[in-house]
Amino acid sequence: MESKTIIIIGGGFSGRQAARALRHADREVLLFDPAGSTVMLPSLPDLAGGWVDEKLLHYPLKDLLPANVRHIQKAVRSIDLDGRKIIASGEVFTFDYLLIAAGSVTDFHGFNRHREQIYHLESLKTALRIRDDFPAYLQRSENPHVVIAGGGYTGLELAMNLYARAEAAGRPCRVTIVDPAPDILPFLPKEKQQFLRRFIAGTGTVILSNTPVTDFDGENVTAGDRQLKEVFFCWAGGSRFAVPQLTGTVERLRDGRLKVDPDLSLPGYPHVFAAGDAAAFEQNGQILRKAINFAWYAGKRAGKNIESRSHGKAVKPFRPFDAGWVIPLHAESVGQLFSRIWIGGNTGLRLHYFMCGFRNYSFANFAGFVKIAVKLFDKGGHHDD
Ligand SMILES: Cc1cc2nc3c(=O)[nH]c(=O)nc-3n(C[C@H](O)[C@H](O)[C@H](O)COP(=O)(O)OP(=O)(O)OC[C@H]3O[C@@H](n4cnc5c(N)ncnc54)[C@H](O)[C@@H]3O)c2cc1C
Repeated sequence: MESKTIIIIGGGFSGRQAARALRHADREVLLFDPAGSTVMLPSLPDLAGGWVDEKLLHYPLKDLLPANVRHIQKAVRSIDLDGRKIIASGEVFTFDYLLIAAGSVTDFHGFNRHREQIYHLESLKTALRIRDDFPAYLQRSENPHVVIAGGGYTGLELAMNLYARAEAAGRPCRVTIVDPAPDILPFLPKEKQQFLRRFIAGTGTVILSNTPVTDFDGENVTAGDRQLKEVFFCWAGGSRFAVPQLTGTVERLRDGRLKVDPDLSLPGYPHVFAAGDAAAFEQNGQILRKAINFAWYAGKRAGKNIESRSHGKAVKPFRPFDAGWVIPLHAESVGQLFSRIWIGGNTGLRLHYFMCGFRNYSFANFAGFVKIAVKLFDKGGHHDD
C-alpha cells in the first residue's frame, strides 16, 4: 500500500500533542505506534516497585486521537528522508510531511550477554515484568541482591523503589548500582550529589563508580573485579533513538537524536520535523534534556508548523520554557523549579506525583495520582490498588 499524507511516528507526549494540533488538517494524518496505549513513563519505577497501580499509567491511544488521525499499530523500522518514505512491518508509506516523535529506547551499548534476562525500564511491558518477577525472586533467593547497571536518574529511582519493595515485603535485599562514570548525576552541584549519596548509602545501597559491567551469565554479574552472585539484574545505562534505521543527510548526537532547526524541522528537510526525545534542540548552547514538558510543547509546535508549512504559511520557532524537574527516590527526592529553587523530600515527591497526574490522560488517572501525591506511601508497603 502507498499513501501520500502527513505521518507522525510515535504517540507519546509529543506525537499526541502534534496530532491534536493537526486535528483540523484538511488531509488524513497517519500516526504509527506499536503500542495501543500511551504511557506515563516517569512513573515506571513506581510501577516496577509495585507501588502504583498500572491502570494509572496508561490510556488507549484510540480514545485520545482526533477523528482525522488514524492510528496504525505498527513500529516504524526505517525512515528514508530523501525518498520521503517510511517502512513499517514491511510496508512502504510515503509522506508529504513527517514528524519523528518516537521517543527513545534503552541503550544496552552493545552489551549482549543474556539480554533477554536483563530487566530494564522503557515501557509498560518491561516495568510490569519487573513488578511481577521481583517478589518471586525475593522469595526464592537466599541472599537477594539487586544490581543496577547505570546510576542515572532511572537507575537510582528503580533502585530505591525495589529496595523499598523488598523492605515492605519483609525480605530486605542488598542493592548495588554500577556505573562506569566517576560520579552519579554529574549535572547536580556537589552538595546535592553528596546529599543523594548519603541518602542512598543510608539504605545500605552501594554505588560502584568507575566500574563497567563486563559480564552477565544469566545469574551472576561481573563488574570490574567483583563477582555479584545470583542477582536481580536491571539495566538503566542510557537511552537512544527508537527507530532502527534512518537514511538522509542529518546531524545526530551520539545517542541518535536528530539536530533540528529552531522551528523543529531537520536542516535541509523543511517537510520533516522531530520533537521530544527524538530531537536534539539547542537552547543557549545546550541541548534540551529529555523531559515531558519539552516533548509536550515541542510536539504541539511541530504539529502547528506542519499545518502552517503545508499551507504555505510562515512557521514559528519552538520556545521551550523550563519549569523544572524532580528525581523521586520513593522516600526522598531532589529537584529544581524554574532553574533556581531547590526542592526535596516529600515536597519534591508530591510535586512529581502531581505532575504525573496533571500530564495524564483521564480524570480518573489524574485523581489517582493526586491521591498518591497527598498520601505518599506508608512504610508498611501500601499498594494503591
Ligand atoms: C523511567 C523514566 C522516567 C522518566 N522520568 C521523567 C520525569 O520524572 N520527568 C520528565 O519530564 N521526564 C521523565 N522521563 C522522560 C520522559 O518520559 C520523556 O522525555 C518523554 O516521554 C518523551 O516524550 P516523547 O513523546 O518524545 O516520547 P515517548 O513519550 O517515549 O513516546 C514515544 C512513542 O513512540 C512509540 N515508538 C517507539 N518506537 C517506535 C517506532 N519504531 N515506530 C513507531 N512508534 C514508536 C512508543 O511506543 C511511544 O508511544 C522519564 C523517562 C523514563 C523512561
